[in-house]
Amino acid sequence: MKQKRTIIRNADAIVIGDIHDTVLHDTDMVIEGPQIIAFCADARKEYGDTADEIIDASHTIIYPGLVNTHHHFFQTFVRNLITVDYPSMSVIDWINDIYEIFKLIDEQSIYYSSLIAMTDLIKHGCTTAFDHQYCYPRHAGKALVDRQMDAAELLGMRFIAGRGANTLPRSKGSTVPDEMLESTDEFLADCDRLIGTYHDGGRFSMKQIVVAPCQPVNCYEETFIESACFAREKGVRLHTHLGEGENGPMVERWGKRTLRWAMERDFTGPDVWFAHGWELTPDEYHIMAQTGTGLSHCPAPAVLGGFPILDIPQMQRAGMHIGLGCDGSATNDSSNLLDSLRMAYLMQARHSKERGASPSPGEMLKIASSGGARIMGREELGSLAIGKAADLFLVDTGKLELAGALHDPLSLLARTGVTGPVKMTMINGKVVYADGRLTGVDEERLAQEAESTCTRVIRNASSAY
Ligand SMILES: [Zn+2]
Repeated sequence: MKQKRTIIRNADAIVIGDIHDTVLHDTDMVIEGPQIIAFCADARKEYGDTADEIIDASHTIIYPGLVNTHHHFFQTFVRNLITVDYPSMSVIDWINDIYEIFKLIDEQSIYYSSLIAMTDLIKHGCTTAFDHQYCYPRHAGKALVDRQMDAAELLGMRFIAGRGANTLPRSKGSTVPDEMLESTDEFLADCDRLIGTYHDGGRFSMKQIVVAPCQPVNCYEETFIESACFAREKGVRLHTHLGEGENGPMVERWGKRTLRWAMERDFTGPDVWFAHGWELTPDEYHIMAQTGTGLSHCPAPAVLGGFPILDIPQMQRAGMHIGLGCDGSATNDSSNLLDSLRMAYLMQARHSKERGASPSPGEMLKIASSGGARIMGREELGSLAIGKAADLFLVDTGKLELAGALHDPLSLLARTGVTGPVKMTMINGKVVYADGRLTGVDEERLAQEAESTCTRVIRNASSAY
């Protein structure tokens, strides 16, 4: 079957996102089906007769689509919830209060909160979204990732679903209410079902499943051992939270730090990535690098929680692979990954003098794009090259507020930042968002449905907390 051919022409610049920090000018891009097939000076000469669509990208810069490596979509309806304020609460009080709210979620709220999170991501240049769905109150049933898949399908989002779980009761030291626990068998049986239903391991895949037990302190040891075994049997990846404040309890419980504990349970390797890692030590950077284990850096929760700021230069010198994550909205209040990109850049710059180094703006863009693609095993994503996915976004350089800031397309996103939605987002060769509107989606109707779902499930009930 003939695949759709699209030409994008007249862009001010195309930021490739490669190791050479290439920026192309006076260049057209040719896309066939899901992938980029050519860059040339005048694509109309060679491809004009066969093009199905020609997109005029005048007064824009084209960037590689951002890759979000850690999120919890179900938390989207607790954004700006005044009764639960992360920075002003102790971690224990915050957990106790927020889990009372998380217990309320159901299939409908998962659908709409995922839809809203993905909309925010798409409108701010993100083309691949990973989500870590570990919240399974008994009454909500097992079809929560299924509803997320429905939302991703509607929006045209490239979606990687982490099927999470908590298995350890509070009586044995976890922080999770008993009505949100599952057994390891129950968890892995549902992973198996989801992999069979949705997982596509191929190039340009739009749907994947990752086995993602929530965190070592809230699970039985067997959950991690069996997850690692099961995921490798199935050829899917592994993810969890690690190095985010749990090392104290882990040392008390097991006599060792979490990374060592995970390594001894085979939960490290090139098919594994962790979220946060701000507790990792320089010795552990080398273990991460030697095992090929990736790290999702989530700047917003580090700032809001007052946690240490990752030493990215030293981590990179050790050979670690790092991606960017906005994290769930309980610790971010936003799914805007462009915002996280700039926040991460500023946080690193804060320590540049004492560390003697700081990621350049272009490096931070690559962490947010190809870095994320790499730690999730998706080498065909994250940069704009022939044979790679046509995942990209356009920034409008004609916006009044950007006048005088267009000296360097590569640095623009991290240094200046782009406020408001981007001009266009393309995923797998399809325009999913352009000029303020999602493609083929009734945004007003969905906004009303989402708001009334939030009111029913969260706002009315949570006023008690
Ligand atoms: Zn998280």
